[in-house]
Amino acid sequence: MRTSWQERFAESPGVLKSAGCERTEVPVLDFTVGGEDCIIIAGPCSVETETQLMATAHHVRQAGARILRGGAFKPRSSPYAFQGHGREGLKMLDRARRATGLAVVTEVMSECDVPLVAEYADILQIGSRSMENYTLLEAAARSGRPILLKRGMVATLADLLRSAQVILDNCNPNVILCERGIRTFETATRNTFDVAAIAIVKQISHLPIIADPSHASGHRDLVPAFARIGIAAGADGLIVEVHPNPDKAWSDGDQSLTFAEFDDMMDSLEPYLEIRSRAANEGSEQALEAVG
Ligand code: PEP
Ligand code: MN
Repeated sequence: MRTSWQERFAESPGVLKSAGCERTEVPVLDFTVGGEDCIIIAGPCSVETETQLMATAHHVRQAGARILRGGAFKPRSSPYAFQGHGREGLKMLDRARRATGLAVVTEVMSECDVPLVAEYADILQIGSRSMENYTLLEAAARSGRPILLKRGMVATLADLLRSAQVILDNCNPNVILCERGIRTFETATRNTFDVAAIAIVKQISHLPIIADPSHASGHRDLVPAFARIGIAAGADGLIVEVHPNPDKAWSDGDQSLTFAEFDDMMDSLEPYLEIRSRAANEGSEQALEAVG
């Protein structure tokens, strides 16, 4: 690795690759995030009803997802929009986990809720709006659960890595980074998908990084292309919003895939997964040469 990256990200030394730490694999149930497999996380933006969640969980599971997403505590742009079912939503996620064997990731927005959310979730999600809330990061880290850390919408890569460092410094090595798009002058998409961030993180950090093509694009018809681009850039996984009837979704319907669209997206990933594996193998050969 070039020393200039070390200097640029000097405030988060624990996040950077080192001779002793080339790759962190985050353990989740009986698999890992950050290993050879590209892990697919899918589910609705919000947990709405038992039927909606169960149908989605069963569907994404049979299509190859390993982790179910769904918000029980929802950060919303409007204070009058649906804010999530809270504890009842967590219970629904727990039932979906038992019924399908999927792991569960869900957002925690307040440090007061960490014990509750950690009781039900396999992975705690820190949302974009909370990325720099260090009190929340510390409490979430101390729960011992793996953390899915989403990049803030106006956060630089250095900001993201600093927040990851806070989690590592609180005795939790299990951090999964997430590129979900940032705010730029471009308004055609909901956010600007900073695919470069994925390539850079794969080069400089031992932590896994996944792509969120749903929030990056904001448009259902762009999600599969963004997913493929993220994988080609080396993402360790995807987090994708899927809904039985996106037009009726209580949140983020415009960017949620139908079941059929999710299946088509999954079918289209194969060549990109091969590109990803090839790049990963070449990367580890280079690393070996550098060491040897
Ligand atoms: C979400 O995952 O539904 C969400 C609110 O994402 P973000 O924090 O990236 O906006
Ligand atoms: Mn959403």
